[in-house]
Amino acid sequence: MKTAFFDIDTQIDFLFPAGSLYVPTAERLIPALERLNHHAAACGIPLVSSLCAHAENDPEFREWPAHCVIGTVGQLKPRELLLEKRVCLGVAPSDFSIDGAQQILFEKHQLDITASPNFRPLLGKLAADRYVVYGVVTEYCVRFAALALLATGKPVSLVTDAIQTLDAGASTRTLREFTENGGQLVTVREICA
Ligand SMILES: [Zn+2]
Repeated sequence: MKTAFFDIDTQIDFLFPAGSLYVPTAERLIPALERLNHHAAACGIPLVSSLCAHAENDPEFREWPAHCVIGTVGQLKPRELLLEKRVCLGVAPSDFSIDGAQQILFEKHQLDITASPNFRPLLGKLAADRYVVYGVVTEYCVRFAALALLATGKPVSLVTDAIQTLDAGASTRTLREFTENGGQLVTVREICA
């Protein structure tokens, strides 16, 4: 069974207290995120790391504080979450290859990962039978990714100790929606066993 991991938006602006859209306590996820990402590398599991990538004055900033502006430190991932062999996919449709890459850095302009024209082609190239999803924020970008992957009909696991929410009630509703749609809740330990 071929698995692919989706590591959603684990970027400095979200993870650290000095980040511009800090998700409270998210820095505590870093050991779990690091373990998952390096487990993927050790097991030959392709790792898709989505990245919020905004221009200055991005339309999203009408609704959210400015964050993850291209060229700023906050847009980067912490070093411990990077794997050695990486490819970076921009938001423009492109004829890309993921051959030989351990980590696919997948830039997106919008909360919903499926809004990127490269999302469906990426799923085709991954040809996975199962998906594992984690990152931030549970009720926004993680939710969009998890539900979109469930809609492919393949099994999807959400790693409950490697996600973080901005609102406990919204998180509970998201997890319920996810399991009602057939998703499975798992822990880091179960995934990395
Ligand atoms: Zn964003």
